Amino acid sequence: MKIITDERCAGYASEGHPERPARITTAIERLKRQTELQLAWAAPGMVNDAQILRAHSPELLARLQIPRDFDADTPFHENIITFARASVAAALAALKAARDGENVFSLMRPPGHHALRDRAMGFCYLNNIAIAVLEALATGSKRVAVFDFDVHHGNGTEAILLDRPGCAFFSIHQFPCFPGTGATNVGTNCFNYPVAPATPRETWRATFARALGDLKDFQPDLIAVSAGFDAYMRDPLAEGTLLAEDFHWLGQSLRGLDVPLFSLLEGGYSRDLPELIFAYLKGVEKNK
Ligand SMILES: [Zn+2]
Repeated sequence: MKIITDERCAGYASEGHPERPARITTAIERLKRQTELQLAWAAPGMVNDAQILRAHSPELLARLQIPRDFDADTPFHENIITFARASVAAALAALKAARDGENVFSLMRPPGHHALRDRAMGFCYLNNIAIAVLEALATGSKRVAVFDFDVHHGNGTEAILLDRPGCAFFSIHQFPCFPGTGATNVGTNCFNYPVAPATPRETWRATFARALGDLKDFQPDLIAVSAGFDAYMRDPLAEGTLLAEDFHWLGQSLRGLDVPLFSLLEGGYSRDLPELIFAYLKGVEKNK
């Protein structure tokens, strides 16, 4: 299992903000301490503007350098564009690793799935997964599926990939909840599976299974996973009911599709995030 991370992604913070550096640093510590998985650590690499501009407007890239908050949840930080680009670069490195037949996870911040073509929002500045999917389609992949299990709807990914040939978006999320979208399917290729607040985990699992069945019917040659761990029972930002074993099951289920796949960290704000990531990675790794 390859872990793509860069401790420099812990280099920005706002006091009291749930999307905090410890999300990454504690997960790195946990993964370095464990002995069940053989891990290879890798750094993100680079991304160029042309790759980013498949998903975003030049105006957004310019805006990211203006020192003014984007919204109440999404503060400006000095050099945020550099941090955001590193997170995108990690997504692209994860794509490459998946194509090389490796199990891979991008353990980076900021997350990306709320970022729209021309707007940063919801703790997200650039849409890591959408950029990686468009890179995949531009470089030989024919059918790319996104599976987004963050408790929040991946509105940015949906908006960017909407009706694009060769890709499909499958999102399972709490509804109603931030950002307020994702109640129904949209366009020809965006499939939403809303789950009510406080829904029992058995129902969550049944919904995941239904979404995975639809994803399989799409017959992808590559799967990109927006891995958010905030549908967890003790997460402070939503009313999910999942346990670590559910994330393990999700990892196993995705691996069981037997299609090259890469996963990127999205949300997950509880103190148990390192355990949830570890459980998921054990599921993704064959035989664990
Ligand atoms: Zn989330």
